[in-house]
Amino acid sequence: MQNYEGSIAQKLKELQVDDSVGLSAKQIAKNREVCGRNILIKTKTHTGKTALFFSQFKSALMIILIVAGLISGALGEYVDMTVILVTAFFNVIIGYVQESKANDALDKLSKMITYKVLVLRDGKRVLVESTDLVPGDMLILEAGSKIQADARIVEAVECSANESALTGESEPVSKHTKELSGTVAVGDRSNMLHSGTVLQSGTAKAVVVATGSETEIGKIATLVKDTTDDDTPLQQQLAKLSKSLGILIVFISIGIFAIGMLFAEPGDRTFVHMFETAVSVAVAAIPEGLAISLTVILAIGMRFILKRRSLVRKLVAAETLGSVSVICTDKTGTITEGKMRVTHMLTAEETLDKTDIEHLSPKRKAHADAVLALRIGILANDGSIDQKSSDDIARWEYVGDTTDIALIYAGAHAGMNKFTLDDSSPRLATIPFTSKRKYMASLHQVGQANSMYIKGAPERILAVSTHVEIGGERKKLTDAARKEWQERMDRLTDRGLRLIGIAYKDVKNKGQLDESDVGSLTLVAIVALSDPLRSDVKETLKVARHAGIKIAMITGDHVKTAAAIGKQVGLSDGKIFDGAQLEHMTDEELRAAVPHVSIFARVDPVHKIRIVRAFQSLGEVVAMTGDGVNDAPALKGADIGVALGSGTDVAKETADMVLLDDGFSTIVASIEEGRTIYQNIKKVVLYLLSGSFAEVILITGSIVGGFPVAALPAQILWINLVEDAFPNIALAFDKGDKENMSDKPRKKSEKLIDKEMKTMIILKSIVANIILFALFVWFYKTTGDIDKTRTIVFVGFGIDALFYIFSIRSLRHMIWQYNPFNNKYLLLAVGFGWLMLIAAVHAPVLQFFLKTVPLTLGEWGIMLAFGLSNVILIEAVKWVFLVRNHKKVI
Ligand code: ADP
Ligand code: MG
Repeated sequence: MQNYEGSIAQKLKELQVDDSVGLSAKQIAKNREVCGRNILIKTKTHTGKTALFFSQFKSALMIILIVAGLISGALGEYVDMTVILVTAFFNVIIGYVQESKANDALDKLSKMITYKVLVLRDGKRVLVESTDLVPGDMLILEAGSKIQADARIVEAVECSANESALTGESEPVSKHTKELSGTVAVGDRSNMLHSGTVLQSGTAKAVVVATGSETEIGKIATLVKDTTDDDTPLQQQLAKLSKSLGILIVFISIGIFAIGMLFAEPGDRTFVHMFETAVSVAVAAIPEGLAISLTVILAIGMRFILKRRSLVRKLVAAETLGSVSVICTDKTGTITEGKMRVTHMLTAEETLDKTDIEHLSPKRKAHADAVLALRIGILANDGSIDQKSSDDIARWEYVGDTTDIALIYAGAHAGMNKFTLDDSSPRLATIPFTSKRKYMASLHQVGQANSMYIKGAPERILAVSTHVEIGGERKKLTDAARKEWQERMDRLTDRGLRLIGIAYKDVKNKGQLDESDVGSLTLVAIVALSDPLRSDVKETLKVARHAGIKIAMITGDHVKTAAAIGKQVGLSDGKIFDGAQLEHMTDEELRAAVPHVSIFARVDPVHKIRIVRAFQSLGEVVAMTGDGVNDAPALKGADIGVALGSGTDVAKETADMVLLDDGFSTIVASIEEGRTIYQNIKKVVLYLLSGSFAEVILITGSIVGGFPVAALPAQILWINLVEDAFPNIALAFDKGDKENMSDKPRKKSEKLIDKEMKTMIILKSIVANIILFALFVWFYKTTGDIDKTRTIVFVGFGIDALFYIFSIRSLRHMIWQYNPFNNKYLLLAVGFGWLMLIAAVHAPVLQFFLKTVPLTLGEWGIMLAFGLSNVILIEAVKWVFLVRNHKKVI
């Protein structure tokens, strides 16, 4: 029999589980023994290690090198062949190490999101890791939960699931508890919930029937990748640049070969020598490192962001973060702590404060209305308690919506435990809370009769209340009384408190609920909740403003509540908008309005996406926070979708970034890191490209000028593949300039390599080459020793980068305005470079391969001066283009 066939009772019996108790510890252990842990064999998101190693050989650079090595060998140039192949191999290793490090880092990040599942075990609701689920476990699910195993639905309310991950169907399918029979396709098994899919709406209780590879998705074996990492815009930009530069350089190399064969010194003018020279120049100039450096910087940047409590899920987000110009943030939990507590209560006859509420007790006669209100608040409530073993109310783990938890918490203080109440007044039906509906209702069996309990936004409740509870009696709600209630409520809203109306309705012979039942209610009380502001929000808002980032607070709360909070944190400069207003506006009107709005109140989740689009159409880069299922479209639509760590699984899966601590400050901190990342990318590109053309000019110059070729192939390879291997990566560890958060956000359309950078690259290449060429001519003319002269040029190439990299570390300040030596990775990389350079000149083995000769101290001195001159050069260009102008910083 299939899992969807037969009655629920049969299924439960088969699994030996009582749906109101769940499995016992013993059963769990036994089932785990049989079925194993609930894990899927995940298809690798990245290429495996071996494949990654071999993929290094696929690059154009490698192919050129290997072919060149083989040709040299075939022509009997074994020394050259060895050098070429060894450097090629070295390059493969470095490429491999870098790429696998980056991949590991990304993998680790993607594994950081673990899913906790609420289940019923031994009569208690407990949160367990999704990998701990076993068949027979009773899942308690609410809208937004990710389904972690295949399960048969036992109870369902307004339940629908999005099964696109499994069936490809993107519309949610509705789910129920009815029996099915015969052969039913997976997509039509409407009484089942499947692993890998998501509960889109409603609530459900379901019994696990299959875990791990036994689930439908497990059978397909290939788990749909959660994060598809397409190339980011910058990666694409750089790939394109690499490619066009590559083609250009190949032409230049062919040119060098042709010129060499025609004009070079007779001694140099052999096929093999000119061929190797042309190849080496190509190798030197092709900026192969660009693409991988970018990935490494992004991956390392993501680690830095993680240190600041936010998890970036996609490479592209790490790149976009720095350009965010608008943050649309939730209020609850992000601006505030999200630890809602009941602080006041209004009943018809009383106004209770916090202490009064703490001293409520169902045992005493006093405050009967308030006690009833609490009771309703606890029953019409989808939160739950994971009681653990402790007796200490404060230490229990509360699960669910913050509003719900606040009421359960207040109840627990008054000695009204949700378990006991749920037991004595069992729930028969529910209308779940949605942000659109703004209330929730539940039907309970109270003694012989049934009652509908309801809590929600006060104006909704008040609008459909006809009566009011006064001292335990139901009285007509007069217009005068209505007005008085409103005034009392306003006083609380003005203080930034969140209000919940509480009401009931006695119904007879009813087992079902729908929205039409919500009418003729008896109002019992208005509960006021407060959610303290996060202490650092005010400061962070200032930082964000200073950084040119616009902040808009979005909340489902009442306009007045929102305004009061806005005032407290300093968000009161803009207009306040309410959702109803938004409803009547066209997209154009909204676009004209959004720049002036700082608070959107009483907003439905559907409005969020319109707000995002409105900002985007103004050219803004928008970060939008969200936690619910309904937030998913907005999270997807925003440039950076930010899910709260406490939010639903769906929100986290859709988002680009997850705030582990929910805090607003974390968003701003991440943006700051994002700006650093972008700055580091620019620095690396500048560094790599400035070095790129050095050899091209010098070598062409020496041939055309009738000199021996200025550098030998082996030397060029050594410089490019050994000397320059590490420093660029070390730049990824640079901390950003302090001033990064005083810039305006970068424009979406901004080019990575702008005019200033181009000029810097060209000027640097030309001037450095002229100096080095002069040195070359002078040394050759005075000594006539070509080996010595080439060694000088060789050291010149090598030393160059080891100096000016310190200059490139900040493009905002002159080198003496910052400490150029405070990046230990860079010091290590440069140290390694020095070691290799000195070894290349003074170690006999390397002298043999590289045809170098030892230099005297005086000659080293000259080369040091040359290195320093490069720093001066870069500093001068920096000063002209960046520091002096103040207008542009990298
Ligand atoms: P927010 O985005 O600020 O969390 P919501 O859309 O969740 O806003 O809530 C809107 C209004 O609905 C609240 O002001 C409150 O009056 C009411 N409300 C919120 N949560 C609940 C709940 N769990 N049960 C009943 N009413 C609620
Ligand atoms: Mg909410």
